[in-house]
Amino acid sequence: MISFKHVSKHYPNGTTAVDDLSLELPEGDITVLVGSSGCGKTTTLRMVNRMVEPSSGTVSVGGRDILEADAAELRRGIGYVIQQAGLFPHRTILDNIATVPLLLGWGRRKARARAAELLELVGLPAGSGKRYPHQLSGGQQQRVGVARALAADPPVLLMDEPFGAVDPVVRTQLQNELLRLQSELRKTVVFVTHDIDEAVRLGDRIAIFRTGGHLVQCAPPAELLASPADDFVAGFLGAERGLKLLSLSTLAGLPQEPADDKGRWRLVTSGRGEPLGWRDTEGPDGDEAPLLPVRPLRDTDSLLSALDESLASPAGLVARVDADGVLTGVTGRDRIHEHAGRRHAEAGRTNASQAPDPDASVTA
Ligand code: ADP
Repeated sequence: MISFKHVSKHYPNGTTAVDDLSLELPEGDITVLVGSSGCGKTTTLRMVNRMVEPSSGTVSVGGRDILEADAAELRRGIGYVIQQAGLFPHRTILDNIATVPLLLGWGRRKARARAAELLELVGLPAGSGKRYPHQLSGGQQQRVGVARALAADPPVLLMDEPFGAVDPVVRTQLQNELLRLQSELRKTVVFVTHDIDEAVRLGDRIAIFRTGGHLVQCAPPAELLASPADDFVAGFLGAERGLKLLSLSTLAGLPQEPADDKGRWRLVTSGRGEPLGWRDTEGPDGDEAPLLPVRPLRDTDSLLSALDESLASPAGLVARVDADGVLTGVTGRDRIHEHAGRRHAEAGRTNASQAPDPDASVTA
């Protein structure tokens, strides 16, 4: 969908912002560009809509060289979201969102109707449409920024540190919201951040840059975490790389056993088969004993949440349910720990010559 072929950008002052970048960004994916400040992420992003023109090489969108397209027309097919939303302060929220449809000549009524629809899509109350940007919180303004970028339903969305200026709680909400929107809209998204956790949460693929505008590695998050190309990437992913990998690995494929009634702990279910809680059959209260909480997990839940639940569960068992929340079986603590340990160990290696020394002694 978006392709960079041997693209470099040199500024007149001699700075090389992007150095011989070749990268394909698949249609319908979120590709996150990540790296420390000044490594060329924003320059790369801005070359997609020609706010910055490459010094050499070819950038194409939908198979077309961007230098051959009319810049204004190109930009109308590409939504653009920046930090602090960049809203027009003297226009209402609805008018802000309707900006591009109006430019495209949709007419006021249709553009307003579309704006109202988008307001709802990004989770803002209908009443906020008549307000002005300064009357909204930072997180709400950011939602308006996303709505405005989506207004003309462009196939491509560029997002430059869009959630950088909001507090961590709101940031998490906005990230979840983006994932929800993306599961419906399937845009081709280019997302810039310097936050590796944000990259891991949002990216279908992550492109890691280092100073001088060099792309070091581009891969899906799980692959990146399991096999970083070199020590630079491993260092950037951080010491908790193993935990991050567990948060991305799912329970699917991990065997389960029938939940039988023979042990001390009985899993009580509803009439529909939904787990309700654990009962201690050997306690003094017998069948009157209060239920201890259970957090049933689906195949799509992470190994990290399974580890957590295996430690919290009095029975040492994780209750597994199907998409309807109906019990399918249980998996024991040992099995989960062994599986997680194996995944975690995978993340302990890099593709660089870093194989663990088999003779090294391990101290507890
Ligand atoms: P990032 O988004 O990763 O922080 P940028 O793409 O903004 O990095 O910048 C990459 C490099 O190019 C930096 O060294 C920056 O100072 C430089 N740079 C960016 N824009 C210009 C410009 N207009 N003129 C000169 N240098 C620039």
